Amino acid sequence: MPVDGPRDIYALVRGERRLDAGKDGVVDIVAERGDAFKVFPALCRDCAAMDYCDGLDPKYVLLHGLSGITPFAEMPGSPPLINARRAYLPAFVLKRAPLADMRAAIAGLSKRVTGRVARS
Ligand code: SF4
Repeated sequence: MPVDGPRDIYALVRGERRLDAGKDGVVDIVAERGDAFKVFPALCRDCAAMDYCDGLDPKYVLLHGLSGITPFAEMPGSPPLINARRAYLPAFVLKRAPLADMRAAIAGLSKRVTGRVARS
């Protein structure tokens, strides 16, 4: 994301509507980016991170549901790299070989940085 925010086409647009994916089901959303390129289901309505979140792929929601999604009650820091993003170490690890063991790399780096093993 550019420092001055997302391009207009990917700006967060709030508004409730139902996405109909035919036989695959429906997704009720409260906001979207890029003409439903990424969406925010009703679960996201009160999430403190919505302004900084990319949103969810509607196909992901249809395939996997929302059981793994947890809204943030508060979101300290300043955009675009709010504190939660800075603290998420796996996002800063680069893969330099096709078969690199990224889980091991993240675990090793996390242990060196924090003394604990990060979740990945
Ligand atoms: S962080 Fe999770 S709950 Fe919050 S807006 Fe993004 S997808 Fe929704």
